[in-house]
Amino acid sequence: MNSDKPSTLMCTVVAMDHTSFCYRVCSVCEKTLPDNSTALCRYCNFIAFNPNSSGSKRLFRLLISIASDTKVFVVICFDRAARVLFGCSADEFFDFAKLHPFAAVTAGKILEGEMFKMTLSKPKNGYAQHLRVVSIVPLQSGFQPVIGTLRELYGVRVGS
Ligand SMILES: [Zn+2]
Repeated sequence: MNSDKPSTLMCTVVAMDHTSFCYRVCSVCEKTLPDNSTALCRYCNFIAFNPNSSGSKRLFRLLISIASDTKVFVVICFDRAARVLFGCSADEFFDFAKLHPFAAVTAGKILEGEMFKMTLSKPKNGYAQHLRVVSIVPLQSGFQPVIGTLRELYGVRVGS
């Protein structure tokens, strides 16, 4: 991948970093907010105008190890592409994971071994070290997004 043009490849998911899969942004301007504060957005002070709103939402940011035919490497997957994998918004998944503490670990397991056609591009900002996933297309026709599989798993009682 020496070119700056996006490249498309077939790959298999090896692992997903389940410790950090999303980040908070201002729900108006989508600028990143600190993870653990209820601070106003510095840019638009949205909370000041709407005290009933949290003023923030979550977007996916996944680190995924993938294997191409020649190597294994880590890519970063932002919200639009990640939704293809998860089938829901980052907020929905975050709420699901609050009720089911192992949901993120299980999500990684569900994705392991799945095959995708991914388009990858070089990060535009210099400090980002991973290729960015521009688009994801599942290769298995029966692919079910993670949230669907999770709901089935957790909706069924063990031992039934
Ligand atoms: Zn804002």
